[in-house]
Amino acid sequence: MAEIRLKNVTKRWGDFVGVQKFDLDIADKEFLVLLGPSGCGKTTTMRMIAGLEDITDGEIWLGDRMVNKLEPKDRDISMVFQSYGLYPNMTVYENIRFPLKVRKVPKDQHDERVMKAAEMVELKDFLDRRPAALSGGQRQRVALARAIVREPTAFLMDEPLSNLDAKLRVSTRAQIKNLHHTLKTTTIYVTHDQIEAMTLADRVVVMNKGVVQQVGTPTDIYDKPANTFVAGFIGSPAMNLVDGELRDGVFEAGKVRVTGLPTTHNGKVTLGFRAEDATIVPEGGELSAPVYSMELLGDASMISFRVGGELVSIKAAKDYRAEIDEQVHAAIPAEICHLFDSKTGARLG
Ligand code: ATP
Repeated sequence: MAEIRLKNVTKRWGDFVGVQKFDLDIADKEFLVLLGPSGCGKTTTMRMIAGLEDITDGEIWLGDRMVNKLEPKDRDISMVFQSYGLYPNMTVYENIRFPLKVRKVPKDQHDERVMKAAEMVELKDFLDRRPAALSGGQRQRVALARAIVREPTAFLMDEPLSNLDAKLRVSTRAQIKNLHHTLKTTTIYVTHDQIEAMTLADRVVVMNKGVVQQVGTPTDIYDKPANTFVAGFIGSPAMNLVDGELRDGVFEAGKVRVTGLPTTHNGKVTLGFRAEDATIVPEGGELSAPVYSMELLGDASMISFRVGGELVSIKAAKDYRAEIDEQVHAAIPAEICHLFDSKTGARLG
């Protein structure tokens, strides 16, 4: 059983709150991703779960044990860091075996367990090398194998892909997902990369300034962001957000006019819609504006407009072309729109 429960977990340094009242049950076998910008408290949360950071308030439970006072080594959790943390004068084999020696696992099991872990991350041909003779991707796989070999009840991974180039990041991400499918070990994974979060997670926790903004499946978070922070953080590009005025179901903001919206809110609001949900139309539409920029993405074109102080992007077919400053129209029907309170940023309805 590797359920992890955080009950109102708080970290303060003096008056500064690093993590505020983090409250969450992480299910056995779940892959949970903590997502947010630099400094939002992801690593601190992870370090508190691992026991590397004292908690100021609240409780952390691993299965049926309250572990607030338990030493990191007694928590039965394996960590994988961005910086690999390998021992330079040990071979790959010795690096992977190290946790077994520390934990005094009987020697006759070492070889089998090391080989099994090495095989899972495709490192069998590199066992005699030292870390200096490995690529970044291979080093991170050694770190993964070293975490796996312990057969812990949970994995904590802190930005494990950050030091890898874009291509390796994609393949190592797929490997991590596949490993989780095989091992089914409860995993908490920290990243500031929303694509990593969306592709890996069973559930995502979006954090900002030490406060949890939303917890949900990738689909929940994409389809129904709880506030403008989440809306502006998830998606590629992130959701378009336009400040304007809503009256009797009609939203207006300069070049944008959307009708048929809910009549339950009146006054200043932020209208959100995704680039991929809107469409370029030959005439009419809810937006009419000169093109600010056009980018070719390979499978689509991205057309941007300036609306108020913001850039609004709309995805078009890959063969669509428009000139800069050309007047273009776009359909942004009410059904694809999200409404947020312009003061608090909270989702309306
Ligand atoms: P990054 O992605 O940059 O690692 P993060 O979301 O993991 O960011 P944390 O490392 O958890 O952020 O830090 C959260 C906040 O707590 C930051 O503002 C950081 O400066 C602060 N903080 C972290 N450690 C300490 C400390 N020992 N003393 C005071 N403040 C700290």
